Amino acid sequence: MEYTPLNPQSVIDYLKSRPMLREILSDFDHLVAQEVGDGNLNQVFIIRHESDPKQAIIVKQALPYLRVAGDSWPLTRERVRFETQALRLYNEVTPGLAPQVYDYDEAMSMVAMEYLGQHEVMRKPLIARQRLPHFADHISTFMAATLFYTSDLYKTGLEKKLLQAQFINPHLNKIQEDFVYTNPYMQSPENRWNPELEAEVEAVRTNSRLKLAIAEMKDQYMTRGQALIHSDLHTGSIMVNADDTRVIDPEFAFFGPMGFDIGALFANLVLNALSHFAHTPDMQTRVEYQSYLVDLIHEIWTQFAQKFERLWVEHNRGELVPNDYWQYPGGDAAFSQFRQRYLHDMLQDAAGHGACEILRRMMGIVSVSDIQSIADLKQRAVVERSAVRVGLRWVMERSSINGIEDLIGIVTEEIKVT
Ligand code: ADP
Ligand code: MG
Repeated sequence: MEYTPLNPQSVIDYLKSRPMLREILSDFDHLVAQEVGDGNLNQVFIIRHESDPKQAIIVKQALPYLRVAGDSWPLTRERVRFETQALRLYNEVTPGLAPQVYDYDEAMSMVAMEYLGQHEVMRKPLIARQRLPHFADHISTFMAATLFYTSDLYKTGLEKKLLQAQFINPHLNKIQEDFVYTNPYMQSPENRWNPELEAEVEAVRTNSRLKLAIAEMKDQYMTRGQALIHSDLHTGSIMVNADDTRVIDPEFAFFGPMGFDIGALFANLVLNALSHFAHTPDMQTRVEYQSYLVDLIHEIWTQFAQKFERLWVEHNRGELVPNDYWQYPGGDAAFSQFRQRYLHDMLQDAAGHGACEILRRMMGIVSVSDIQSIADLKQRAVVERSAVRVGLRWVMERSSINGIEDLIGIVTEEIKVT
């Protein structure tokens, strides 16, 4: 079938031509479709059975342009392939932490996947101050497995490069390169910021020490193909409920620095924590929830580091540092030291990339709903100033971050002075 954009009517007819879906949907004659995409890039339809709403799937289709910018901004539809490949890989290396893929149609730029009807996009429960008792466990497992199993620690050099070749994703890379690391920090027509933040935006754009630090992070993003990263792992790309966690929307996936995913997640947890300066006027309630989120970052990192290291010790089959390389007296200790260094560097990278994520959300093309939803611009500015301070410190002080306590220490200090 030649590419045509689907709509809630045509999608039903189109699905009748997809034999793969007959296993999921018993009856193609009583389906209803609804467009639910709140995203920035694509169309997302829920397809339900009229009388049995439990029978449902998600159909996601790429449009040939960037939805948030309109059809004046062409964008390759190949992004659906990267998303499909990444979701399939997640389901292999860490089952149950991403939606299942039911069908993929390259010509139509369509992926059909499991409908997460019992889940919410994570920003929402965080704004409502919910606690997610299993989240640290789930997301640390997800990051440890997806990063480890696609890296040179697990794959042979050949395997890794062949996989990397399937994830050459230059058009989506460019979006992050421009919108995370460059445009927010200079004059660019799509930038948006709170007018109350004029002085801070100007200070960021003219701070040479900061601009050098951000340029270093961009260089790493562009050149360090360490593992398959999600590359947009914010709290809008995670769907949760009290028991379950699923990572969605990996269309930006490519081989990049591991610290990017960790940093993006931490950055968005910090942005939510700070947003409660406006959402939660009661001081005690606010302080409690902010410390819950700060502790959550601590817990995620601690569990991540343990799980990542355990995978490495137990499955060191890659060619970066094979077991035979350490076969000498003192080799065990040296290997252990190398693992510690590797994780130490990853945490510093997470701080640097996380900082860019924080800063770009304050002065780039897209904010986050946690902060955008604060109607009073003066109140919003309180949150944003605090976020800018954390961002500046995470990236400029990253070489003195020697443990997770240092990274969250910066957040705690800035929360105190807000
Ligand atoms: P985009 O790439 O356009 O940003 P997303 O993959 O983020 O699209 O999806 C947009 C929205 O559609 C999500 O925020 C969520 O509300 C909904 N959605 C996406 N995938 C699923 C799913 N598997 N189950 C239920 N809802 C989903
Ligand atoms: Mg997306």
